Amino acid sequence: MERTDKRLTMLPYGQQWLDEEDIEAVVQVLRGDFITQGPMIQAFEQKVASYAGAKYGVAFSNGTAALHGACFAAGIGSGDEVITTPLTFLASSNCVLYQGGTPVFADIDPITYNIDPRQIELKLTPRTKAVIPVDFSGQPAEMDRIQEIARLHNLIVIEDAAHSIGADYQGRKVGSWADMTMFSFHPVKHVTTAEGGMIVTDNEVFYRKLLQFRSHGMTRDPQELTRNEGPWYYEMQSLGYNYRMTDMQAALGVSQMDKLDGFIDKRREIVAIYNRELAGIPGLVLPEQHPEAASSWHLYVVRFLPEYFEGSRREIFEAFRDCNIGVNVHYMPVYLQPYYRELGYAEGLCSNAEAYYETAITLPLFPKMSDMDVQQVIDVTKDIVRRFKKGNV
Ligand SMILES: *Cc1c(COP(=O)(O)O)cnc(C)c1O
Repeated sequence: MERTDKRLTMLPYGQQWLDEEDIEAVVQVLRGDFITQGPMIQAFEQKVASYAGAKYGVAFSNGTAALHGACFAAGIGSGDEVITTPLTFLASSNCVLYQGGTPVFADIDPITYNIDPRQIELKLTPRTKAVIPVDFSGQPAEMDRIQEIARLHNLIVIEDAAHSIGADYQGRKVGSWADMTMFSFHPVKHVTTAEGGMIVTDNEVFYRKLLQFRSHGMTRDPQELTRNEGPWYYEMQSLGYNYRMTDMQAALGVSQMDKLDGFIDKRREIVAIYNRELAGIPGLVLPEQHPEAASSWHLYVVRFLPEYFEGSRREIFEAFRDCNIGVNVHYMPVYLQPYYRELGYAEGLCSNAEAYYETAITLPLFPKMSDMDVQQVIDVTKDIVRRFKKGNV
């Protein structure tokens, strides 16, 4: 049996890329007067909002907090239903639970893996208040159709764009489609602030609510105060949290944003190599693109169809890991988590997402990968295909 030369260390599926400029940007903040609640926050917010084609940005301590803020601003509460995809990270539906709302899962399109607009329509009820589409793997969901459904039924659209900053749909940037769009700056995402997140929006009412929610529900804005007892005076007008980002993080974010387009180019180059080198292998399904979508490629997911391969997905997964290729699985349908099962969600709810989950493996993809890293992923994948291939297919 052929062996691929084993790497000495595990290649992760995703990783940040920081350079001396990034480090210097953080150090400068540390040497200055404001390490939190200073001027870098607005600089970062403006940079991301203008990049994404939105008017306002509100930075948060992480993407999950940002989603929580968006659900608050949308007025989600007890008795409200919010439709989202099961193929996502926990935060996309947990944010609905935080507000006392009910997540409703609509199945994915089996080709793009994004929420299927027809399935959204099937899940609508008089209680539906919002939709949270997720741009899975970096490919925008079908935002034109989702917006159309939302307009028709008076729903708020909160786009979970944790995977898709820099992507576009019908030539329009992610961030300019939904009522509110969330970006995450976790180190595996396109640009990082270690932990961090942001909502971008064109809506001033949402913007003001998000600002308050991020900081205890407080305001000092003279326009918003019900009375004014003096220069010290502030008011708490709603129940908020401390979800603030620090200036060190925002400075890192500003510096990283300058590199975003270069990072996306590099991701697209690696994807083109994977697509070319792994094409035409029977039973190995490569990621497909919607004709209107231009992904910014957070994840490269392949599927090993069981009809073509001996052994389970688990054995195939472990074979990659044995070769120090740090593959991953994104994601088990959220409602199959024990906590959600206890809430009453059950297997069989979204058959496409469940079928997807049984066969998916995420290959490493990040801009700092070397040519050799990329080649090793390809060699190991081809080797595993040979080792696990069924005899007579
Ligand atoms: C990363 C991620 C989040 C949450 O972001 P954090 O910054 O880690 O809180 C939400 N949704 C999706 C789809 C993600 O991948």
